[in-house]
Amino acid sequence: MPFHLSFPFSPRTLGLLAGALMLAGCDSPPDDPGMVIEGKIMGTLYRVSVAGVDQAARPALARDILAVLNRDDQEISTYKPDSVLSRFNRYQGSEPQPISADMADVVVTALRVGTLTQGAMDITVGPLVNLWGFGPDKQPVATPDAAQIAAARQKVGLSHLTVTARADGQWLQKDLPGLYVDLSTVGEGYATDHLARLMEQHGISNYLVSVGGAVLSRGHNPQGRPWQVAIQKPTDRENAVQAIVDLQGHGISTSGSYRNYYELDGKRLSHVIDPATGRPITHKLVSATVIAPTATLADTWDTGLMVLGTAKARALAEQQQLAVYLITREGDHFTHYMSPQFKAFLVSEAK
Ligand code: FAD
Repeated sequence: MPFHLSFPFSPRTLGLLAGALMLAGCDSPPDDPGMVIEGKIMGTLYRVSVAGVDQAARPALARDILAVLNRDDQEISTYKPDSVLSRFNRYQGSEPQPISADMADVVVTALRVGTLTQGAMDITVGPLVNLWGFGPDKQPVATPDAAQIAAARQKVGLSHLTVTARADGQWLQKDLPGLYVDLSTVGEGYATDHLARLMEQHGISNYLVSVGGAVLSRGHNPQGRPWQVAIQKPTDRENAVQAIVDLQGHGISTSGSYRNYYELDGKRLSHVIDPATGRPITHKLVSATVIAPTATLADTWDTGLMVLGTAKARALAEQQQLAVYLITREGDHFTHYMSPQFKAFLVSEAK
């Protein structure tokens, strides 16, 4: 789960945004009060903060934000039985199915990062996610056994999914009837990018938008300062800040193993599944944050890095020149690694 802080408005706006905290940093009342539009979508929270926008624009903006988010939800949710993705998942044939250009883009991005992470990030991991109780299905009452895990793994594999661009549109195709695509890991970034696009369409150039823990900001806050986003310490104590960054028009997302979990047979199970083992990850990397040109890209990489664990994630980040911040649990304390590319965004860091 991603946890970020930003500093756009008054202290009264302090609140939790799906683990992301919106903190205030204004010492005097600003001329521009700013505007915040927020609500629930996709099982999480969204928030749009803008500066320099007339309050009269609020109703139209709020309406368009909801339309964008509902369209994304209706397209890629695995929680909605009638979404485009759920219908594709139920389809047992191998004929190409029509999808939007946006959906084609996010699947292509996920497949590309999937390949670069050697399958650690795998959007066909759905049968395993559902088996372990982190999808729309109920949590299991007992730990899945080896046979159940092996059976689910038979239905997983990036090579079974193809996106084709044709003159008549974009098409999604599977060659395995049971293939089940789960875009939950990239969906927050996807929707965040669409909120940013909407801001641009409205002619708004100073905004901070987020869905769940995926965040993207551009320009400045109502106080005329750069928006700032904080990465939360991976502790049970909320609001503890690990680092603060200025995104400079980029997207940020964190994957963590310390918030979204449940306990089964005395073990804490993370919602991040290692496709190589078919089981929730157990290593010591507890949080992987990525800053990338888009929130979708950041949200795609962070899960892959989480699956890989500290050493492999660090090596891949260096090879791909990614802006990453990794937090590893060492007994009772945490250590961190920051890539050189991440340092360019860093404002401050906790000792
Ligand atoms: P991330 O770390 O970004 O991703 C973890 C998730 O990715 C896991 O939960 C799993 O689904 C998947 N995953 C696990 N391992 C891998 C892997 N190796 N490779 C790729 N993916 C993996 N939740 C609800 O409770 N109710 C809803 O109605 C609902 N609707 C949604 C609609 C949409 C369109 C989307 C995108 C999500 C929805 N969710 C819903 C899911 C919820 O918001 C998720 O918790 C969230 O999307 C996961 O994001 P994260 O940042 O917590 O975790």
